[in-house]
Amino acid sequence: MTIAYIYHPDCLLHDMGEGHPECPARIEAIEDQLKASHLFDFVRHYEAPLATVGQLARVHDKNYISRVLSYSKLEAYVDSENPHAYLDPDTLIMPKTPQAALRSAGAAVLATDLVMTGKTKAAFCCVRPPGHHALRGESMGFCFFGNVAVGAAHAIAEYGVQRVAIVDFDVHHGNGTEDLVQNNPNILFCSTFQHPFYPYCGTENVPSNVVNAPLAAGSDGEKFRAAVTDYWLPALHKFMPQIIFISAGFDAHYDDDMSSLRLVERDYAWVTQELLNVADKYGEGRIISALEGGYELHSLGRSVTAHLRVLMRMN
Ligand SMILES: [Zn+2]
Repeated sequence: MTIAYIYHPDCLLHDMGEGHPECPARIEAIEDQLKASHLFDFVRHYEAPLATVGQLARVHDKNYISRVLSYSKLEAYVDSENPHAYLDPDTLIMPKTPQAALRSAGAAVLATDLVMTGKTKAAFCCVRPPGHHALRGESMGFCFFGNVAVGAAHAIAEYGVQRVAIVDFDVHHGNGTEDLVQNNPNILFCSTFQHPFYPYCGTENVPSNVVNAPLAAGSDGEKFRAAVTDYWLPALHKFMPQIIFISAGFDAHYDDDMSSLRLVERDYAWVTQELLNVADKYGEGRIISALEGGYELHSLGRSVTAHLRVLMRMN
């Protein structure tokens, strides 16, 4: 079965400088592996549109959106010869960043439109910058807008969806998503993450619609699968989501130096299949995945390939 593959070349324009792990080469590594495995010819390609301020404002403060967008102008920078500014110690913005960030969020909106109108069952947003650390009014951890939360809010506002699940298997806790969706009765948010680890939260004051499953450093696929089986799946079956969004970060991979978890490709394939089963049972197979982390370029490409193979029901 084919799926929608949503991307835009503007996603390569955001570049936080030499040596920064959240780099344009990530997208190229993914496409390279998808081509090598011949999946690239079988997905249906779409260009990500720009998200509108109205779509972003469903989850972000308007003043914050204006502030991010203002950085597309050189006047926003102290040094117009070398225009850049730190929005947090890890997160650099430059004149092309707002364009890339709007494409990333716009991809999730288009994916929602395609899935909700029945043009496709499943979609993958191959975009950057990622989104799951972006707070309501603040950039954080390489993220500017909460792409997946923007998509979820679009499904609710535009299509009247009552029950949206967001799941996040990035190695870092999706604190931004949690901030954007907390206590929203229409959304269930399930997250696995290494703990204690950046962003050093997710185990205390957990909102009622959030299921957080922390994993100790060194945890392997067996521990990850147990967390999904014991925490996510019962919550998902109880919630009966009409659509599932995946914050698909691949930085828990054994080969990724960003973390100390030990997942491998077959773990990503396994969790994707489990989520697909839930989507089939309650949501007519509707599932949208958006790239978050994943910094070791080889394992990133292989893991996304394993993930898409399951979304395409080729296993
Ligand atoms: Zn991450």
